[in-house]
Amino acid sequence: MRPLDQEDMELVETACEVAEKFSSVRWNGERLSGVGSALRTKDGEIYSGPNIDHPESAPCSICAEYTALAKAYSEGHTEVDTIVACWHKNGDDGILPPCGRCKEFMRLFGNPWVIIKTDDGPRKARLDEIHPYAPG
Ligand SMILES: [Zn+2]
Repeated sequence: MRPLDQEDMELVETACEVAEKFSSVRWNGERLSGVGSALRTKDGEIYSGPNIDHPESAPCSICAEYTALAKAYSEGHTEVDTIVACWHKNGDDGILPPCGRCKEFMRLFGNPWVIIKTDDGPRKARLDEIHPYAPG
């Protein structure tokens, strides 16, 4: 695990901005939960996006990481350097660790740094540190 650098902090900020923006969106009369993700590809491009979690579609929702990864993939990127997700609620926000399904999906994009919250503050860990992989 490593401390965050300036580029990592900017990713966190972007993810939190997306989370804040979508926490105030009303869609078909429902307020969505505010989670945003931001990633930096190996070649330095930034992609971000929200979770899509509408009460009428539950449990068929997708995490914010999926949205950011799909946007990067659709633009031809298959290697991610760093990824983070943040939540926002009532003016407060923070880093949200990826769920197991997201970690499995991230595996398709290499072994990215994943920004997580620890007892010592935000850190980044390689995906294989937080989601060991056993090739089949
Ligand atoms: Zn997830």
